[in-house]
Amino acid sequence: MSFKVITSVSDMQQYSKECLRRGNIIGLVPTMGFLHEGHLSLIDKSKEKADIIIVSIFVNPTQFAPTEDFSKYPRDLDRDIELLKSKEVDVLFLPDANEIYPDNFNTFVKVKEVTERYEGEFRPTHFEGVTTIVSILFNCVKPNIAVFGRKDAQQAFVIEKMVQDLKMDIKIIVSPIIRENDGLAMSSRNIYLNANERNDALVLKNSLDLAKKLIELNEYNASVLIFEMERLFLAVPSASLDYIAIVNKENFNTVDKLKKDNTYYILVACKIGSTRLIDNLEISL
Ligand code: AMP
Repeated sequence: MSFKVITSVSDMQQYSKECLRRGNIIGLVPTMGFLHEGHLSLIDKSKEKADIIIVSIFVNPTQFAPTEDFSKYPRDLDRDIELLKSKEVDVLFLPDANEIYPDNFNTFVKVKEVTERYEGEFRPTHFEGVTTIVSILFNCVKPNIAVFGRKDAQQAFVIEKMVQDLKMDIKIIVSPIIRENDGLAMSSRNIYLNANERNDALVLKNSLDLAKKLIELNEYNASVLIFEMERLFLAVPSASLDYIAIVNKENFNTVDKLKKDNTYYILVACKIGSTRLIDNLEISL
């Protein structure tokens, strides 16, 4: 099938209805564009499970606070389209903000509790914007599966919770973090970093590696692990740490002590200069 760009909601719904009627399995990869290898890995993952691959690009205004980088968020649609074609994606869904959020738009989807912690503490309106746009995209694209990156581990957890609570008949797949050669997690926002900041940004991955090493030496006390990680951030003047949290993978609750036979995420969020970056590491004991 050839590559298609669909911009209208009704055309998207019609296209997906036809695919489903033919018995195709639709895989959706939602993105905000300015694509990199991390996004492309989600496309590869969706191909393992679906036979029609739809990528959406929509820089979603409702997940940015007024003080955040919505207007300067990087965009390069021509390059994105070339990458999607090279990956043999079937459809780019490129909706118009005026159709997604018309003037009389008044419905939001909110997952409680977990959205108040970690990212939610520093970006209080963020997750409501995410769950609202993801619900809208699900209703437009009607996917059987949807693939999200573990780079945004809390976001993936919040979406899984929404799908479970609202009984959405969609399988959520969470795909591993793709990194640059030196370990920096790929992100569209890395383009904001100047050369010095690009180097300083390695502190996120270095702090996670340090925690991993200490855990391998049997340090299971979360406050000690966090203290040692924080020391690395203090040594980087351009770094301003928002949080480090060690959470149980099953429920995203903070833990004081790691225990055998459990899986955790260590989450970090930090500004490097004016660029806010996040990263995480999964730890299984
Ligand atoms: P974004 O365009 O930043 O909203 O990201 C779209 C999707 O790509 C989300 O599910 C992200 O978690 C995922 N993603 C972003 N960066 C990476 C990465 N480095 N590795 C894997 N997935 C990623």
